[in-house]
Amino acid sequence: MVESGNITSSISGASSIDRLIEIDRVNMLFARTDGAILSLLSAAAVYVYLQIGQYDWRWLVCWYAFLCITLLGRTRLSSAYNNGLSDRDSLPEWLKQYRLGVLSSGIMLGSISFVFPNGEAGIYQMLTFVILVGITVGALVVLPDFKSLVIYVVTLMGPLVVVYATKGSELYLGISMMIAILMMIFIKFSKLYNDNLTASLRLRYENKALLFDLVNEKNRLDNRLGRILNESSNEVFVINADTLFCLQMNTGAIDNLGYTEKELHETPLSCFLENTDEDAFLALVKPMQANEKEVALHRDRFLRKNGSSYPVEIRLQLSTQETPPIIVVTALDITEREEYEQKLNAQANFDQLTKLPNRHFMLSHIDRGLSRARRGGNALALLYMDLDNFKNINDSLGHSAGDELLKQAAERIRSVLREQDTPARLGGDEFLIMLEELGDPEHAEVVAEKLVESFKQPFVVDSRQVHSTTSVGISIYPDDGDTVEALMQNADTAMYQAKDSGRSHYQFFSQEMRRVAEERLLIANHLRHALKKQELSLVYQPIMDTVAGRIVGAECLVRWHNPQLGQVPPDQFIPIAESLGLIEEIGQYVLNTACKDAAEWNRGGREAVHVFVNLSSQQFRNGDLLACVDGALQKSGLSPEALVLEITESLLIQGSHNPLDIINGLRKRNIRLAMDDFGTGYSSLSFLKRFPLQMLKIDHSFINDICVDNSSEVLVEAIIAMAKSLSLDVIAEGAESKEQLDFLQERGVRLVQGYYISSPLVASEFVDYLGHEGDKLSLVVAG
Ligand code: C2E
Ligand code: MG
Ligand code: MG
Repeated sequence: MVESGNITSSISGASSIDRLIEIDRVNMLFARTDGAILSLLSAAAVYVYLQIGQYDWRWLVCWYAFLCITLLGRTRLSSAYNNGLSDRDSLPEWLKQYRLGVLSSGIMLGSISFVFPNGEAGIYQMLTFVILVGITVGALVVLPDFKSLVIYVVTLMGPLVVVYATKGSELYLGISMMIAILMMIFIKFSKLYNDNLTASLRLRYENKALLFDLVNEKNRLDNRLGRILNESSNEVFVINADTLFCLQMNTGAIDNLGYTEKELHETPLSCFLENTDEDAFLALVKPMQANEKEVALHRDRFLRKNGSSYPVEIRLQLSTQETPPIIVVTALDITEREEYEQKLNAQANFDQLTKLPNRHFMLSHIDRGLSRARRGGNALALLYMDLDNFKNINDSLGHSAGDELLKQAAERIRSVLREQDTPARLGGDEFLIMLEELGDPEHAEVVAEKLVESFKQPFVVDSRQVHSTTSVGISIYPDDGDTVEALMQNADTAMYQAKDSGRSHYQFFSQEMRRVAEERLLIANHLRHALKKQELSLVYQPIMDTVAGRIVGAECLVRWHNPQLGQVPPDQFIPIAESLGLIEEIGQYVLNTACKDAAEWNRGGREAVHVFVNLSSQQFRNGDLLACVDGALQKSGLSPEALVLEITESLLIQGSHNPLDIINGLRKRNIRLAMDDFGTGYSSLSFLKRFPLQMLKIDHSFINDICVDNSSEVLVEAIIAMAKSLSLDVIAEGAESKEQLDFLQERGVRLVQGYYISSPLVASEFVDYLGHEGDKLSLVVAG
């Protein structure tokens, strides 16, 4: 028998379904053969028995024997088929054999119409009719093969039709015709039955095929998911939730870790995690083992067999549906994400130029350092440092040179520090260093000293030697504050103090500094409104020509009276005005007023009285000084020859752009320049040679010491000689006595200024003074 059930996998398309139906049909034919033959033999036996009176028994036995032989042939055929001697390809042959069997048994059975005609014995004729129609009806029900049925109908009932038609009576002819019609009905019915059978079989196979396709599709999808997971570059492990050993892993895990499948099976997962030991891993999965949690997330690094590692984000998911329970571990390689995070972190916390931590990082780092210091009872130091002269170098050599200098400065700072000390760049040229676990504040002093010393060596930027020293301010926790803000503020204050005391120094913060800083802050707050509130005024200190015995000029000095602060000396507020950026505005006010007042004095044709105006170096650097001077002269109508501008050496040194341009511009306008406070700064002869100045003012500190300190006298004499050799007019300021005046006169100093001649006067007093100049000066000269 051909198995149609085993070939379900080959169901595809209509032709194969047809074939399967064919197989089923043939199977049915042969399966029913034995029962059918038994029925036939029984019916034939009864028939033969009933005919015994009508025909010779030998004749009857002979027919029955032939029938048995015929049916035996069919039985053998059927058992051969059912015993599996068939195959699919020989199916038509089997069908043909079957039909031949049907034909032969049909002929044998149908032959009774001729062999046992029964003359006119109606009851026997009926017997023949009944048995033939009965067999046909039976066949109709059991034969699912149309052709076989047609063969049966024709062979069984055909002879009846012929026999009755040839009897010559009208009745027989009618019966013959009715039997013929019955044959047709049987055939038609058989067709219908076979079609229905085919349709139902087809439906069955189509459903089967549909189910088969559905199962196939499901399997395909299941396989696809499995394949994708297996081939995924992410690591997937299935671990035993109890033993934590790997039960399964995908090829991604094998490829990425470099271990063999066997090695992965034999090692607990925690062994592949760089920063998670067995206990930590247990702690991670414990809530899952206890069914308290289904999912856990973890970040670590996977260790490859070759010793390298890479960052992963691990997701552990418990599944209790399996026995034993499993944990599915999926790991995602986050190398790129971590690099990106590190980049972001570096951008947020590190200075891109020097690679030092930035202000943002440092603030929280100090905060954490303070917490540690509090807990450990340790001291902590902040060193605030700033590069002296950086702005000038940056402005004169360009920003890329400035950047290079900052990089080298950061290197120098690093080289001086211990591992646990943290340097940071706060911005610009400002650096901050935190020293932790300070056994003794002296250690901070040692570091500060090293820093200052290391910056005394010149830097090499763009193949040039650049000098940039540093000033360092130190604040100590807990003495100088216990918050980040207070300690930073105090270190900053100490740093300014270090700068003020001549740069390239370090300075500890002190309470005195705090007082000064607070005072400075108070002054700064009031100074912002001083001009608007008209709190500023000018005084003029006469300058005498000792040879001519007359007043040839006056130095204009600014005064500030504030209702709360009282009189604030210019030495105190001018540097603050410079740092607040207010000096240009104040300078402009001074220049305009001084020019206006001087224009008054010079009205009326008397001999010229010069006005000496002090300039801050910032006015030279930032503002449009020439336009400012032009404006003041134009508004006042003062002749440029009557204006002398006092500048200091620091201006010539710190000048970012070339001060020569402005100096030449002033010279073109016939405005003279005096070098103020000469002797207190660099006193460099090269400046005097390089810059076309006309006057030199010897600082009053030297004049004061004349007649007291011999070295000051020698110095003053040297300055006078030098000025003469450079054809510079000399003004001695701060003459307070007759002796000092005589000393200066004897050495040929013509111009003298000082309390001995007059203290600074308000404009109206100065005009008065000029009115009585003769009397006053004769008193001065006479002593
Ligand atoms: P300076 O330009 O050297 O001014 C001379 C200072 O010496 C003045 O102090 C003056 O009052 C003082 N002085 C005059 N005669 C004597 C004397 O016989 N003995 C002593 N011991 N001192 C004498 P002042 O007015 O306090 O000014 C101090 C400094 O403030 C000035 O030094 C100058 O650098 C600055 N300053 C004053 N006014 C202005 C201004 O309008 N603009 C700028 N940029 N700076 C100014
Ligand atoms: Mg001056
Ligand atoms: Mg001076």
